[in-house]
Amino acid sequence: MPARTGAQFLSGLRDNREVWLGGQRVVDPMEHATLRGGAQAIADIYDLHYQYPADCLMPDPETGEPIAISHMIPRSKEDILRRHTALRRVAEFSVGLMGRTPDYMNVTYAGFAGRSDEWAVNGNDEGAANLVAFQKELARNDLSLTHTLIHATTDKSKGNVPTGLDETQLHLVEKTQHGILVRGARVLATLAPFADEIAVYPGQPMPDASWRHALSFSIRMDTPGLKFICRDSVSLTDDRFDHPLSGRFDEQDAFVIFDNVEVPRNRVFINGNLPVYNTVMSASWRANFTQQTTIRAWTKLEFAWGLACRMAEAIGATDPGTLQMLGELWTFAELARSAIHSAEEGSHCYGNGAWFLDARPLDALRASLPYWFPRVSEIIRLIGSHNLLATPAAEAFDDPALRPLIDRYLRGAGDTTAFDRARIFRLGWDFAGSALASRNEQYERFYLTSGARTRQSVQLRADRTTADRLVDRFLTESL
Ligand SMILES: Cc1cc2nc3c(=O)[nH]c(=O)nc-3n(C[C@H](O)[C@H](O)[C@H](O)COP(=O)(O)OP(=O)(O)OC[C@H]3O[C@@H](n4cnc5c(N)ncnc54)[C@H](O)[C@@H]3O)c2cc1C
Repeated sequence: MPARTGAQFLSGLRDNREVWLGGQRVVDPMEHATLRGGAQAIADIYDLHYQYPADCLMPDPETGEPIAISHMIPRSKEDILRRHTALRRVAEFSVGLMGRTPDYMNVTYAGFAGRSDEWAVNGNDEGAANLVAFQKELARNDLSLTHTLIHATTDKSKGNVPTGLDETQLHLVEKTQHGILVRGARVLATLAPFADEIAVYPGQPMPDASWRHALSFSIRMDTPGLKFICRDSVSLTDDRFDHPLSGRFDEQDAFVIFDNVEVPRNRVFINGNLPVYNTVMSASWRANFTQQTTIRAWTKLEFAWGLACRMAEAIGATDPGTLQMLGELWTFAELARSAIHSAEEGSHCYGNGAWFLDARPLDALRASLPYWFPRVSEIIRLIGSHNLLATPAAEAFDDPALRPLIDRYLRGAGDTTAFDRARIFRLGWDFAGSALASRNEQYERFYLTSGARTRQSVQLRADRTTADRLVDRFLTESL
């Protein structure tokens, strides 16, 4: 099947899945007041592939049918650069506000399939073959995946991963005639109401866990026993003046309960094989999927800088403090661009013919972004000050008695009309101050583990050869 259209994607969401929002079971996201905007945004992203086919589509290597480029297993630097263009198109659609657009998991699984040899170890040949077959199915059926890597938190004093068997965490219950039965919980399935399947794969290694926790698979969202409990919506009515972002870019997040769920045998990628679970999330994983995450982040940083410049101009803020903060935003965006460029330039074969990016600049960026994004919000709020809240709604502009007063007293600097000024600052508030903004800041802080943990892991992985040579020169000099 060729890449899907938005309409085909939306019709796929109408199944018997058990997604709960508040006290309500969601029947169809398009019929739900606060899910409609997010569903439509993902549908628009499917359609965007057909608006820019040269940038976003490629022939399937086996069938020749058009598939999304994000499914490509890169084999060269040219492939990496081609994928960059496609990822940027998708990122620009939501100016990076939607992190888990389907390309995120497409890139992830293309990387897994490209290094299927890393999965086919310790007797896991069947799991690796299932994974390769699944990746083709993912590409050809153009599925939207949600995913959960993380074990649910119950008692942090016991650690982040299970020790022995913890019945509350996702685990293998028994083999069945057609596959395996699993039970337990996982977090946090972003995009759940807008996904066709949920994928489970390893997060952190868990050296002391029972082998029953060592699971990886993908199953349909309507698999019996699968329950998704969404957080409160941060979506507002899709009004392009009042809420230009909150009306359409809430991608949702859900807690997942596997209440005796049967996984078909051909969809099991790791079946209780602890050594595979603990090793498979290797360097090649990071060097591949972070192309998507960093291009999205870079796009969002560029947007934030542009927005802050417009806010400052609208009120004639040219003071040194404002310029300094604008320059800080530009620096974030430029450093992100440079790191991605450097990582792509340094791309190389990681084995098995799979070509991924130089992980080092991406690691540095990944360790920085959880700290940069809260600062980005802070800068937008500092530059915006009360102006972010002195913003009449669209209906106020429509009122014939109010309009002349608003036009007179709420205009901005130079030629900036009251309407333009309200529009700019409403965008600023939706980006940095709204409920959507608050959720997004939480996302940037944690979606790839916390900045604190990432900084520790980059330090533990880093190559010290050159740094040691520079220091040793002074420590070994004869006195
Ligand atoms: C909006 C959002 C969307 C998400 N979407 C997904 C998704 O789609 N799929 C998915 O699998 N997961 C998702 N996650 C979960 C995400 O992967 C986890 O939040 C992340 O791995 C961090 O784990 P944690 O929340 O348990 O926090 P922790 O890592 O426990 O961190 C909590 C706090 O403890 C501190 N801390 C913890 N350990 C250490 C340490 N060793 N050293 C120093 N400080 C430490 C951190 O600084 C942090 O402030 C999402 C999370 C959020 C917030």
